Amino acid sequence: MSDGKGRPLDFARGRRFGSPMLSVILADSVPAAQPFVLIFSYEGSLPRAPLDYITADGILLRDESRWYPAVDLAGFAVNDFKISIPSGWHAVASGQWNGSALSQTDTTTVVGWKTRQAVSSRSIVAGPGTVWPCSNPIVATSGSGPIVDLQRCESPSHQHYSDRLQIRAADAIHAFGKILGEFPQDRLTIVEGFPGVQGATGYSAPGFLVVSRDVMRYADEADYAPEFLPHELAHQWFPLEVVLERQEDGWLAESLAEYLSWRYLREKDPEAARRMVMSAMRDALEPDPPRPLAMGLRLFALEPWSVTHATLYQRGMMVFRTLETVIDRERVDRTLAEYFKRYHGRSASVADFQKICEEIAGRSLGWFFDYFLNGTRIPEIEIRQVPSGAPGIVAGEIVVKDMMPEATLRVEMRIRTAKGVVEHSVATHGEVTSFSVNVPGPAIGIELDPDLRILRWTEAVRRHRPQMALLRQALDLEEESKFARALEHCRQALALDPDDVALNQQRIRFTAARLEYRQGAFAGAAREFRAAHDGHSIDPVDTNFYRAWCRVYLARDAKRLGNIDAARAEASAGLALLAAALDARVDWGGSRSGEISAREALLELSK
Ligand SMILES: [Zn+2]
Repeated sequence: MSDGKGRPLDFARGRRFGSPMLSVILADSVPAAQPFVLIFSYEGSLPRAPLDYITADGILLRDESRWYPAVDLAGFAVNDFKISIPSGWHAVASGQWNGSALSQTDTTTVVGWKTRQAVSSRSIVAGPGTVWPCSNPIVATSGSGPIVDLQRCESPSHQHYSDRLQIRAADAIHAFGKILGEFPQDRLTIVEGFPGVQGATGYSAPGFLVVSRDVMRYADEADYAPEFLPHELAHQWFPLEVVLERQEDGWLAESLAEYLSWRYLREKDPEAARRMVMSAMRDALEPDPPRPLAMGLRLFALEPWSVTHATLYQRGMMVFRTLETVIDRERVDRTLAEYFKRYHGRSASVADFQKICEEIAGRSLGWFFDYFLNGTRIPEIEIRQVPSGAPGIVAGEIVVKDMMPEATLRVEMRIRTAKGVVEHSVATHGEVTSFSVNVPGPAIGIELDPDLRILRWTEAVRRHRPQMALLRQALDLEEESKFARALEHCRQALALDPDDVALNQQRIRFTAARLEYRQGAFAGAAREFRAAHDGHSIDPVDTNFYRAWCRVYLARDAKRLGNIDAARAEASAGLALLAAALDARVDWGGSRSGEISAREALLELSK
């Protein structure tokens, strides 16, 4: 190895295993402030990683893929890439594309991407595709802020998708810009990737977002994964611009993106925001035992996706909401803006975030971070009414169990009286806090924390956990063809929640109906399919999914009875349901067809 003048060079690798550190020992010392160029050539094969892909239909190389040998997400640097790709492909990286190929042959195109400022990532995505600028491509992130150029890169084999995704992206960027500070990049390219993946999957890098095909396909369906796009766009701020100091700080990446997504939906689609919270409150506490949020991104490697999602996404988001009840929403916003301002372009930790939070709140919040991030306990909050002795006053106590004595939460309550609803809130201190509220008439009922702002045990969770355990057992028994016992488990699960507080009835009934059908108990199955069809789940896509499959089975049953017209009627009613629900492919077992979508089954039955 030698330098440009033929003098010997040496280098030393970092001593820590996997360290990206490389020290170059120059033959001569270089005078201070004199620039010099080092060129590294390297080759090798890339290790397999769960999100990266290298296929004939596209390539995603994240930082973790190690295509660029130094993996240091806190190493902000200016990128200047020349990427050779097969002709007909497009490649996207952070920064600016010069708009045309640098060079082109019959088989190869070379494109260049350069960032204006230092960025945290060296990720590259490529695939067959065309770039579509948004017909309404520019958006100011704030009154005087920069213009964001929005474009989309999609596979030419599909129909041209609508601009809806870019328009929604522009809106979310604008909304986040107002809370957090300006969008850190000047371009956002949404790239179709993850070939063959079903459902909404995404990967965010500075200035670009790779999404699965379904995200583009169902961009016009407002009910399809509404939290997905704002979540991914929030990543442009956190953790791409304020990177995580350690994996354990993952609450400031996934949980924060989920919280910001909820904040966005709260303004734009309050129903979707409400559903997001309902699901989170129910599902976040399903993992048993609960894992500490301080495991952060390590959850991805150590736990199944369902546990990681319930913990880092749903429970983590609820912890941000709970923080709103401790320091109020306006102070959470100020904390986020200050956190971004202070740490953008470098790394930060939960401790740094806590410090800003405490500065803004003007008090110590050690108990909050200790309890909700390091710990796994969940508070139990109850309301006890006590006789007030006066007709116009409701009196009672709020009891917070399994919480630290220094904790204080603002608990909202909704008091229904014969003469209207009274909203009230109480800041708790210690285990028992008394309150009294003036009311216009006798109280009929008091609802505690009606908007589910505080992470706590709820009746829905208490019913949900054993229900899901029974449902899992039922599906295992079905695998072993023990249908009668599986059905018995479904019946027990239904009996746990007769008034459907946990909103699991539709999926359990559907499973019960399927089991009856597989046993040949067709009349009972048909009754159960009708009941499942008329029920609903939290997510409207799930509701439509079960309805579509109920229609499939009801049509099959009608056909079995020789009632072709009824079968066709069921099928065409089914085909009118949400496209995203109709296209999801499943294998319910017991058929030779393997994975099939409700649409395919219904089209067959409508003939
Ligand atoms: Zn994310």
